[in-house]
Amino acid sequence: QIRWGLLGASTIARERLVNAILANDGYIASVYSSDRDRAIVFADVLDIPGRMTDLSEFFRSCDVVYVSSRNRLHYEHVIAAASAGKHVLCEKPLATSLDEATEMIDACRQSGVVLAVDHHLRGSTVNREMAALVRNGSIGRPLFARVVNAGVLPHHLYPGRLTDEAGSGIIFDKATHDIDLLRYLLSETPLEVIAMTSDVPVERSLVAQAVMSTMRFPSGLVAQTFDAFNVPCSGTEVVINGTEGSLYASDCLSGRPAGGLKLITAAGEQPIPLSHIDPYTEVVRHFHLAVTTGSRPLANGEDGRIAISVAVAMSIAGRSGNSQPTTVLS
Ligand code: NDP
Repeated sequence: QIRWGLLGASTIARERLVNAILANDGYIASVYSSDRDRAIVFADVLDIPGRMTDLSEFFRSCDVVYVSSRNRLHYEHVIAAASAGKHVLCEKPLATSLDEATEMIDACRQSGVVLAVDHHLRGSTVNREMAALVRNGSIGRPLFARVVNAGVLPHHLYPGRLTDEAGSGIIFDKATHDIDLLRYLLSETPLEVIAMTSDVPVERSLVAQAVMSTMRFPSGLVAQTFDAFNVPCSGTEVVINGTEGSLYASDCLSGRPAGGLKLITAAGEQPIPLSHIDPYTEVVRHFHLAVTTGSRPLANGEDGRIAISVAVAMSIAGRSGNSQPTTVLS
C-alpha cells in the first residue's frame, strides 16, 4: 500500500484528493500544515493519524507527497520533497515561473522520483473520449478550438489563488487548466498568444478575474480560451471544429465526473455515450502506476512546465494590451 503525505491542509485535498487516494487503495499517513491547529482539525476530520508542522518529520512518515499548498509555495515544497526522496503529485500551476518549473523537474530527475501535476482535466471521461475521437480522425484535421471555463471562486479561496502574488491570478490559477487540456486534446503546443484581461467588478477583487485569449498552434490551428472567476451562472464547454466534423463537449471542466459530448459530421449529430469516472481518481491511479511501474503520469513535470510557459506568454500579452501575438518561450 502506498503511504501518502498531504503537504497542505487545503480545500482541494479535503474535497477531492483524499477520496481519490482512498479509491485507489492508497493509505493517507499524514498531513502537513504551517499551522498546528489547522493540521489537527484537518487530520481529525479525515481520520489521518499524522499531523505535522515540521517538514522533516512529515517526510519521514510517507513515501509519496501530494503538494496542494498555495501556488507560490509549490516550488519550495516540491524541491523539499524531492530532496527527501519522495515521489510528488503537485497541484497546478506547477510553479510561478519557467525557471522554477525547470528546477523542480531537474530536482525530481536527480533524486529519481516521479513528478506529476494534477492537471485533472486529462482524467475526466468526456475529455479522454474527446481526445480519442480527435486522434482517430473522427473530425478530420482540427482547425479551431474554443474553451469556456467560467465560474465563481468562493471568497475564502481568494488568498493565494486570486491575488497579485506570484503564481496567483486567473491566468496561472485557471487558464493553465485550459492550456494543458488543449495540448492534451490536440497533441500540440501553442506558439503565440494574444490576450485581454477583464476587471469588471462582479465580485470584490484587486486583480483581474477573467481573461480571454487567442492562440495559434504549429499546425495553424487557432484556439480561444475564456476563463473567469466571477461568472455565477455559466456552464463550461469545449468545441473543436475539424475538416470533417465538430466535437461539442459541455459541463466538461468542473472536476465532477460529469459532462456530455456530441459529434457532428455530414452524417448528422451523434451523442457519444460516456461512463463517467472521477477525474482525480484517474490522476491518482496513473500516479500510482508511475511510482510502481515507471509509466508516464497523466501529466508530468514537463506538461506542468509547458503550461507555465504559455501562461507566462498569456500574462505578458494580457498586460501589454498588444494586438501583436506574444511568442511562447520554450
Ligand atoms: P486553500 O486556500 O484551501 O489551501 C491552500 C493553502 O492555504 C493550504 O495548504 C493552507 O496552508 C492555507 N490555508 C487554508 N486555510 C487557511 C486559513 N484559514 N488561513 C490561512 N491559510 C489557510 O486552496 P485550494 O485548496 O483551493 O488550492 C490549493 C492548491 O490546489 C492551489 O495550488 C490550487 O491552484 C490547486 N487547485 C487545483 C484544483 C484542481 O482541480 N486541480 C482545484 C482547486 C485548487 P497550510 O497547508 O500551511 O495549512
